[in-house]
Amino acid sequence: MPPIVTDLPAFRLEPTAAPVAANERTERLADPGFGRVFTDHMATIRYSQALGWHDARISARAPLTLDPSTAVLHYAQEIFEGLKAYRLADGSTALFRPQANARRFQNSARRMAMAELPEALFLESIRLLVKTDRDWIPDGPDGALYLRPFMIASEVFLGVKPSAEYLYMVIASSVGAYWKGGARPVSIWVSQDYSRAAPGGTGDAKCGGNYAASLAAQSEAIRQGCDQVVFLDAAERRWVEELGGMNIFFVFDDGILSTPPLTGTILPGITRDSIMTIARDAGLTVREEPYAIDQWRADAASGRLSEAFACGTAAVVTPIGSVKANDGGFAIGGGGTGQTTQRMLDTLTAIQRGRAPDPHGWLQPVA
Ligand SMILES: *Cc1c(COP(=O)(O)O)cnc(C)c1O
Repeated sequence: MPPIVTDLPAFRLEPTAAPVAANERTERLADPGFGRVFTDHMATIRYSQALGWHDARISARAPLTLDPSTAVLHYAQEIFEGLKAYRLADGSTALFRPQANARRFQNSARRMAMAELPEALFLESIRLLVKTDRDWIPDGPDGALYLRPFMIASEVFLGVKPSAEYLYMVIASSVGAYWKGGARPVSIWVSQDYSRAAPGGTGDAKCGGNYAASLAAQSEAIRQGCDQVVFLDAAERRWVEELGGMNIFFVFDDGILSTPPLTGTILPGITRDSIMTIARDAGLTVREEPYAIDQWRADAASGRLSEAFACGTAAVVTPIGSVKANDGGFAIGGGGTGQTTQRMLDTLTAIQRGRAPDPHGWLQPVA
């Protein structure tokens, strides 16, 4: 049934009567880490088949009350996004490529048979929340407001079918550096027993279920003394795909960058896309091509592969220092942060923070 109301709703602004006091906020922002400190407000929009998108508001951040039969709790119809707002040198606030997140959120919704939130509502919800809670952006070189838009199936019904109702929300978290003590090279474990995504599955949708499916492999990585897990393709267990929540790049001794192609089992990262663009802007060759784990091992041994790094919104660029698998491990380059890895990190963060020209119009001012 098509929605009866087709106009986009206006947001009701309901500022909290009890914001966190300024001195208490300053204390929480001193060393926020990642995903532990939350702001005063949240955005919500509801969807039903009868009303379409409605009841849009910015209100005090508060717990949800859900009926125990709410569909998401049983069948995991849930999607999310992650993007950052930055305070620029001139004191203004900007988002990085929010339209790309809006489009990806719609793609994820389609794959999970959920209602597609109009791009204008996605962007407005984020802009209004950032405007309301902009004092929660920590100072410091890594300080940002991490926005987490997400949507759950909210119909109270135990039958297996796409929900007729959805709850979309945005929460905001004050963040500093993702890795404690800076971006030291990480060690990664090659999962040969677990798959993250299969052809025809949900690997290119940003859904919580993909993360749930990756956690046993991530625990295995930790037991193996590694920081992160890297997944191979599900069909041949041969082609390197991505980490649990980050895409991967390889750098060769001739200066060429390579990343696995988006064939449906890899999440199309906006950081991945941005790095391909800034590398090409810098005159580097970037290839999207399959890369086999055995080739990786051989190239690391011969020196043909000089660097590898992971990338995503949360940690931006993370160098990979070593790889471990059932049949042995290998080191990459000198074990430190490679020159191209550092250059990609520096160039991208300079654009994100308004310290470098923005030739592609990626920064979006928040009024
Ligand atoms: C979100 C995510 C990424 C990174 O995407 P960005 O848009 O760069 O933040 C990579 N892999 C997975 C599985 C993800 O969920």
